[in-house]
Amino acid sequence: MCNACFSDNKIKTSTTFTVEYKGGIIVIRNVPCLECPICGEVIFTDEVSANLEKIVNAAKELLMEISVIDYSKAA
Ligand SMILES: [Zn+2]
Repeated sequence: MCNACFSDNKIKTSTTFTVEYKGGIIVIRNVPCLECPICGEVIFTDEVSANLEKIVNAAKELLMEISVIDYSKAA
């Protein structure tokens, strides 16, 4: 169910997840998610959220100004 508008409809899709960190930016592409067709709210499953956290933490250690990571290759 959508946290924002409580619609039950969800579309399986993928999105780009972006985090800013110490003046740098971490971009993770092709992240699987569920999107609400009513309001556009994007929801990640617990598994995907956990993977994103790991990928972001790994990217933070590299401290590149811009890190672009493909989820399907990193997870
Ligand atoms: Zn919604």
